[in-house]
Amino acid sequence: MKFVVTAGPTREPLDPVRYLSNRSSGKMGYAIATAALAAKHEVLLISGPVALPAPPGAKVVRVTTGEEMFTAVSAALEDCDVFVMCAAVCDYRPARCTPQKMKKRRQPFSLALVPTRDILASLTKEKHDCFVVGFAAETQELEANARRKLEEKNCDLLVANDVSRAHLGMEAEENEVVIFSKTEEPKKISRRKKTQLARNLLKIILKAREKCLTKKS
Ligand code: C5P
Repeated sequence: MKFVVTAGPTREPLDPVRYLSNRSSGKMGYAIATAALAAKHEVLLISGPVALPAPPGAKVVRVTTGEEMFTAVSAALEDCDVFVMCAAVCDYRPARCTPQKMKKRRQPFSLALVPTRDILASLTKEKHDCFVVGFAAETQELEANARRKLEEKNCDLLVANDVSRAHLGMEAEENEVVIFSKTEEPKKISRRKKTQLARNLLKIILKAREKCLTKKS
């Protein structure tokens, strides 16, 4: 099967030396890519800037901004069975990226931000044949937010994690997630290493995809 997995953060430039970003390390997405490769699937990994080696056997496309990630994902979905949107795409970008380095100011100033394009929501609106897995990092009302994103972003599964707890989720080696779907009860994968969690998640994804295909035929 052909997997397209996104991972890591995006960076939204302010000037030639500064950018907005987030703490995503890419570990979860890289672990999912590695688990899919180990199960003999083909993997295209679309990665934001991270300090991780490419998983052996994966085709890797490296991007920096959300728009670059959109372009790469958009092209990749033409030939994809399972799409896992694990990247922590910046929700906002500076309204302007100045060509010269911004001068230091003595007074406080405001930075104008504009929302970025929602890659997942915009691409799943178009006709496609892939099984879509979204992610949601939440610090409150995990279930309500996850269910809303499942609907709004047209996902088959939505993997939610609570990032308010130390040593879990963003940057950490371990994670704990709850997987939501439109038809089944939520499934929890309790705290464990991201590498192990990715293998468990892969099995759940493949089972859910199988059920989805059986229903359609
Ligand atoms: O940031 P948010 O919680 O809305 O992210 C949920 C899902 O949407 C994730 O799968 C993330 O990769 C995706 N997303 C996206 N484009 C954005 C923001 C988020 O595809 N601009």
